[in-house]
Amino acid sequence: FKCLNCFLYMCLMKDSMENIILCHGGVGSKERPLDDMKGIAEKAYSKNPLDSVVNAVVIMEDDPRFNAGTGSVIRIDGSVQMDAAVSIPGKFGSVIGIENVKNPVLVARDVMEKTPHIILSGSGAVQFARKLGYGEYDPKTERTISQYSKMVEALKKETTDNRYKIFKELIRNGIIDEPHDTVGAVARIDGKFAAAVSTGGASPMMRGRVGDVPIPGAGIFCGEKGAVVATGIGEEIAKRVLCHRIYERINTDKLENILREEIEYFGENLAGVIAVSHDEHAFFSNGSMGTDMFKIKV
Ligand code: ASP
Repeated sequence: FKCLNCFLYMCLMKDSMENIILCHGGVGSKERPLDDMKGIAEKAYSKNPLDSVVNAVVIMEDDPRFNAGTGSVIRIDGSVQMDAAVSIPGKFGSVIGIENVKNPVLVARDVMEKTPHIILSGSGAVQFARKLGYGEYDPKTERTISQYSKMVEALKKETTDNRYKIFKELIRNGIIDEPHDTVGAVARIDGKFAAAVSTGGASPMMRGRVGDVPIPGAGIFCGEKGAVVATGIGEEIAKRVLCHRIYERINTDKLENILREEIEYFGENLAGVIAVSHDEHAFFSNGSMGTDMFKIKV
């Protein structure tokens, strides 16, 4: 297992006296040099942990290189359906399969703060967004459109029905880039936690497919002990309820060890996690994962 950027932060120190925001740009991105991510966490920083993680995710949703918001992957039927979620201890909000909005994470925050619900999906999520004034926005880019046509051509040629075999074959043959450039962030500000995550999904996928991102405990979990966010093959992450699993283990071992053990379980399936607890922070992945971090002494 390799974690390209981990070496930078090998010496995880007790950092309870620091405010910290840690963000990732997805696992499996071919080569996402740290430089690409630099400054996001610092720009996103605010004294409010929820503002910090949402700011970080909005910056990445607006960056067309990431598979979230603008630049989200196109599904097999040609549509773009996005999932996003936010959480603070005891509160959660997400949108599933939202279409034609610029920043799904902002709608997820509104679900959490302005409705009695935790999740809105599909047309209901879109309608809610419009009522709140989110305008029509097409998140497709030249890059995603060209990836889509290549994917459709390649899928036509495949005979096997194993989604992951098809997927790996497409990547091996250079037909599509690994589309795991989902974005996420966790923060601990003055001892308080928040988490946010946003994705166009794991391509190739059917219309209506839902991954780990909008499911509490799967791709995101935040409680009084810390915040955890995941990236990778959403189906595998959700079956494992990965983020809640990690959260429950906080304080039973070094955070770094917990993350390593939990990611090793995934074997060949790409997975990555970032996490903060009261006195630690860590990230680990089984493929390259761009990360950025901003820490400030308090
Ligand atoms: N976890 C996301 C999903 O399966 C994809 C990713 O992390 O890149 O929807």
